[in-house]
Amino acid sequence: MGRAPGFGAQVVQVTTLASMRAPTTIICVDCGGTCHLLAHPEVEFEPGDPVAYRCADCMDRWDIVMPDHDDEGGAPD
Ligand SMILES: [Zn+2]
Repeated sequence: MGRAPGFGAQVVQVTTLASMRAPTTIICVDCGGTCHLLAHPEVEFEPGDPVAYRCADCMDRWDIVMPDHDDEGGAPD
């Protein structure tokens, strides 16, 4: 209807079941600092893969397991 061609028309479906990219940073659970992804940001992970981060503030290492897509759209805990 009232939508001009070429404006907002490119909708990219980013949800894939095969693989996904981890966020490049997460918030440290301990100190609230920024944890940086240890792997290359463009590496794609499959659900269940561990992803390692290192906190810039307290130097703690965090291993995040990539979530499953089973309960997509579900409410957080
Ligand atoms: Zn920390």
